[in-house]
Amino acid sequence: MRVTVIGGGIIGLATAYRAQQRYPRAVVTVLEKEAQVGRHQSGNNSGVLHCGLYYKPGSVKARMAVSGIRRMIAFCEEHGIRHEVCGKLVVAVTQEEVPRLEELHRRGTANGLRGLRRMGPEEMREIEPHVAGVAAVRVPEEGIADYKAVCAKLAGLLSGAVRTGARVMGIRRDGAAWRIESTAGDFAASLLINCAGLHCDKVAEMAGVDRDTRIVPFRGEYFELRPEARRLVKHLIYPVPDPAFPFLGVHFTRMIGGGVECGPNAVLAFAREGYRMSEVRVGELVDALAYPGLWAFLRRYPAMCWYELRRSLSRRLFCESLQRLVPEVREEDLAPGGAGVRAQALTRSGELVQDFDFRFQPGAIHVLNAPSPGATASLAIGDEILDEGERRGLVPVTNGA
Ligand SMILES: Cc1cc2nc3c(=O)[nH]c(=O)nc-3n(C[C@H](O)[C@H](O)[C@H](O)COP(=O)(O)OP(=O)(O)OC[C@H]3O[C@@H](n4cnc5c(N)ncnc54)[C@H](O)[C@@H]3O)c2cc1C
Repeated sequence: MRVTVIGGGIIGLATAYRAQQRYPRAVVTVLEKEAQVGRHQSGNNSGVLHCGLYYKPGSVKARMAVSGIRRMIAFCEEHGIRHEVCGKLVVAVTQEEVPRLEELHRRGTANGLRGLRRMGPEEMREIEPHVAGVAAVRVPEEGIADYKAVCAKLAGLLSGAVRTGARVMGIRRDGAAWRIESTAGDFAASLLINCAGLHCDKVAEMAGVDRDTRIVPFRGEYFELRPEARRLVKHLIYPVPDPAFPFLGVHFTRMIGGGVECGPNAVLAFAREGYRMSEVRVGELVDALAYPGLWAFLRRYPAMCWYELRRSLSRRLFCESLQRLVPEVREEDLAPGGAGVRAQALTRSGELVQDFDFRFQPGAIHVLNAPSPGATASLAIGDEILDEGERRGLVPVTNGA
């Protein structure tokens, strides 16, 4: 069996790694267009280990986060990768947010999280002395991890199976197999696994899958707290998110390499890999504007889109969002940080797809929506899609010979 994975982000690498372990006689290859693995979402995220507080009980996301965090921590422990289970505080800033905080508490409990604790202002300030708010839930199982190092380790464990500089340009059926044309030559596959992140819908289309949902890029921009302000944040401080969106709201994250990151926001980007406002790709923009789902989304949430755009251009507005959680933060405490772009699937009717979306066709598996907590859940996602591939007869259950 030849398993070819398109995309050397954390999900492609984790899936390839699990395929290599599960089917030792299979030839596993990962095709990655960049010169290194983990250059996009996997290397530009918040670095948080999410354990399943937010996600609807019974959803794939909930299941994958709960099992994924345990597996990711075990992987980090086994391979000496920096991580820390430091816990998180989700804070309701106003009384209106309290019912939503309570709903998160219920969801987390239903998802089987351990040690969740509802607390009032005094108790939460024992954990985070500078936080403001009326109530909080402490999530002790969450933490931070070095996902870039996870990607590098997975690539190392795949010993020679990763082909960088291999941009997939075309895919066609060749008898019972696939022929994949790339900038590094042609590859064959009896099982194709599409983990192309920001380009996953286009890669799926190359293999004949209808693009009924499309990837819309949402840039997440960060600031970092200057060293003298880092004392304001001890662990992870999150707001209560708006349930209409899959984004968690700008938050404070202690980073595994030191320092505190603030963000990310969620601004519509003008290019799939548009890490700055000025990055525009005309072809991608035209493709997005031709999709009725984008217009439906803009009609549905004009205020949110406009606010995000303004906040992206205004340090003052960004700082105001942060001050809701930690009032002592000042604009001059914020130094520009990095940015990541989320691959978020959007339906034709303008809804952001909340759950993970995996599609199966003869000889192929496509990961069509895997935003946060995709990094935490990556090893669990790898097994989930291979299990389902086996159930559907795409992968021989024996050993992949
Ligand atoms: C701002 C931000 C914050 C986040 N925070 C968190 C967090 O704290 N915790 C968490 O668990 N998750 C978080 N996530 C989500 C997490 O990062 C993603 O779910 C995860 O990285 C997705 O991995 P991936 O492998 O699918 O995608 P990617 O990492 O984007 O990898 C896809 C790869 O496919 C390659 N590719 C694309 N097209 C082709 C082609 N034609 N040929 C060859 N290669 C191709 C790309 O170059 C890329 O390397 C965050 C994401 C963002 C953007």
